[in-house]
This record gives sequence, structure tokens and C-alpha cells, in this order.
Amino acid sequence: MTTFYITTAIDYVNSKPHVGHAYEKIISDVLARWHRLLGEDVYFLTGTDENAQKNAQAAQEAKIDTKTFVDKNSLAFKHLCDALAISYDDFIKTTEKRHVQVAQQIFEELSKKGDIYKGMYEGLYCYGCEAYYNEKDLVDGKCPEHNKAPTWIKQESYFFKISKYEKQVLKLVKSKNFILPESKRNEIVQRLETDGLKDLCVSRYGAEWGIEVPFDKKHKIFVWIDALVNYISALGYPDQKNYKKFWPANVHVVGKGINWFHSVIWPCILFSIGAKQPQTILVHGYLTAEGKKISKSLGNVIDPLTLIQTYGVDALRYFLIREIPFSQDGDYSEASLKARLNNELNNDLGNLVSRVLTLAEKNFKEIKKVPVDKTLSAAFDLQKIKDIVDSYELHNALSEIWTFVHAVNRYINEKKLWECKGDDLHQQIYTLLECLRVLGIVLYPFIPGAADKINQQLGVKLGTFKDCSFGKVASYKVKKGANLFTKV
Ligand SMILES: [Zn+2]
Repeated sequence: MTTFYITTAIDYVNSKPHVGHAYEKIISDVLARWHRLLGEDVYFLTGTDENAQKNAQAAQEAKIDTKTFVDKNSLAFKHLCDALAISYDDFIKTTEKRHVQVAQQIFEELSKKGDIYKGMYEGLYCYGCEAYYNEKDLVDGKCPEHNKAPTWIKQESYFFKISKYEKQVLKLVKSKNFILPESKRNEIVQRLETDGLKDLCVSRYGAEWGIEVPFDKKHKIFVWIDALVNYISALGYPDQKNYKKFWPANVHVVGKGINWFHSVIWPCILFSIGAKQPQTILVHGYLTAEGKKISKSLGNVIDPLTLIQTYGVDALRYFLIREIPFSQDGDYSEASLKARLNNELNNDLGNLVSRVLTLAEKNFKEIKKVPVDKTLSAAFDLQKIKDIVDSYELHNALSEIWTFVHAVNRYINEKKLWECKGDDLHQQIYTLLECLRVLGIVLYPFIPGAADKINQQLGVKLGTFKDCSFGKVASYKVKKGANLFTKV
């Protein structure tokens, strides 16, 4: 059986989840569900990154111990996943024993390979990113992620000899589909070709929180090395069943700010330990809110849980996927969310389901299979939608599905269904029910709640893409339920 392993980045737990976190999890969930419908054996991993030094600082400020702090905050991310209907198979916390062991084992392996050496680090460090910076990567002397000047530090450190893998990494990042979209690949290629690879400082001397370097307890493993390893520690690297079955990952979904770590540093670790490389690093853009950067200081951090309460989880999922062209930055706007909920979800889709089921219930106790009207079956192009999803253009996949929704609505109006009778009406209703059933399948990855409701009202179970052909159901006994969506 084909396997499909997909991961989100693991989230820092020193702040609350916002709509940007929701966006990344939704993209990944759509892909995970899509591949399950393809009949693949899917493993979907998400989790939280808990070993950052800044957690210790935040915990101190909150006057609780660091472990209690990270556990509590990690729960908020898990809760968000559940509220968003994220169908993850595993949720890893990097303070878990299964992770700590593997992180230390890998550090040891890098060392045995001769890729770790002790030296003196002197340079710029951003505590927010937990990352070392070169002067020229700063914007106006400040970290571009945090808009803060990094600190000059000098300390004894372990270094990872990534310079050794420069040629290998360059070849990898240039290979087809390794980094998507292409614009994000070009950024990495350019940086590698201009700067080359300098050895990376991979330990923090004297840090109180984090995973100890196994052979030198005065040092903690640099949080990025530790964080990246989660993708294999969760699978039970190196000898457990899941690792053998699911590695290498098919897709790592990450935000653009951490593209370099995933596309360059992570491959170097994997080269060094002799593991296979992931297939694709899928880089998404950032969300702004009403045109402005989302930040605590601007006070415009949007709590996705509030949005779910107000608009429903399907509306939020649909909006974020439909509104934001993949690979670009996108804007969250409440007006636009409302408009898409009212027009596309409620009017186009919700009313369609309601109209068809009303007509079916009113005219027939049972709707037996008859040949479908080809006008509609011909308007549905599953292959086209599959190709779009394969290229990760999820917003276009929804737009293509909506082309079909519009075709079905048009059909009802053109045929004036409410005036039809007898065999004619029977054939049209059967055809329409088949359309709704097929929509229930292709919409399931995007809006699983609404898809479930469609299936329930049709009295069918969720199918797979194999069931996406017309004329499959021998007989329908439908039961109209509540509307799929509520207009706001
Ligand atoms: Zn920073």
C-alpha cells in the first residue's frame, strides 16, 4: 500500500495559537484527508516545540516551573487542532522521553561521523528566533522576524560541519519539487550559491532548559537541531515499525520563515546520519490581518477559537484555503470570511443541498437507480481536481469544485425542476443526488463537517475517490436535515 507521511512544523509554546497556526494545520489536514481518500496509508504528525530557552524565561515571568508552563501551553495547541477538526495521527511534544532519546542519539551519531567539533562562537544571536544571524540577513540591523536587534554573544560551542555537505545540499534543493513553490526554492538556491554553507553552532553553553548534549552536560543541544529531529523521533527512529514504514516524509508543511532550516539544515543532518531525504518542503506564506502584520504589539492577534465559535469550523477552513493563493502571503479579513460563508457556502452549496433534498423527499419515498443525465456527470472532472491538488494549488481546487456546484445549480434552474414530473423528474433527482454524493467526497478534505451532513442526509457512508463516478448507488432513501450553514 502506498504510504503518505505529512507533517506540520511544531509550534513554539511561548505564545497562544493564532490564525496563522490554524492556517498551516488546515493545509496539512486537507492534504492528509485527500490522500486517505486516494486509499493511501497516511501518517499525519503535528506537535509542539518545547525546549526553547525562551520558555524558561516566560515560565519564570509567570512564576511557574518550566515543564508545567510548556505542558499547559502545549494543550492550547492540541485543543486548537481538535477544534479545527485536524485529523492528526500523532502529536509530539519535544519534552517527551521518546523525543529526547532520539535527539541525543542523533547528536551522538553526528559526532561519531566526525561532523561535530568544539569551537568558540562569536556573533549575533536572536533570542526570539533562537537563531544565529549574519549581519547582512538583518533588516536595519534588526532580526526580520522579530524586529529586534540581535545580541552579540561569545561562548564555547559545538559546531556541526555542514560546510561538508554544501554540494550535496545544493544539488538536492535544485532537484524538482524538493522545495515548493519555485519562488521559495529560488531564494534558497540563491542564498546557497552566494554565501555557501558555514558550519553551524549547535549547542548553547550553560542554558538551563533544553536537551543535554549527551557527552557534555554543560551544553544543551541547539533548539533547531532538536526541533527538526521530531519528524523522525515521532516515528521511532531508527528501528521501529513506523519509521521503516513512513520515512522519508512526503511533505513537510512549513512557514516561509523556517524554510532555510528545513531545506538546508535538516538535509545536512539526514546526510550525516545516512537517512533518506524528504520528498517536498512545502512553504506557505504568512497571514496578515486586515492588511497588517499579525503581532501581539499591534493587538490584532486573532483567536481562531473565537472565529470557530462565531462562524463554524468549516467556514474558517474553507475561507483560509479559498482566500489565500498558496505560496503567497494572504490577508485575513472578517468581511471577506462573512462574504464567503454567506455566498459560497450558504447560498451556492447549502441551498443546493436543501433544494434537492426537499424535492426528493416531497416526490419520492425511494429513488431507485436510473441512467444519469450526462449533462451533469460530464461537468465533473475529478482528474482535473486531483491534478490541481497534486500541485498544491488548494485554492484552485476549491474553485474548480465550485465550478461544478454552479453547474448543478444552473441545471436545476434551466430544467425548472419544480415543474417536472414522473420519469423525467425521477431521472433528474437521481442524477442530482449522485452529484451531491460525489460532492460529499471531494469536499470532505476541505469541509469535513458539511460533507458528513451531506452523507447523512443522503443516507450514504463517506466513499473514496473510487466512488466518485455517477450511477453507483442502487437506491436512495433521503432524509432532509438542518441547513449545512447558517448565514451571518
Ligand atoms: Zn528573531
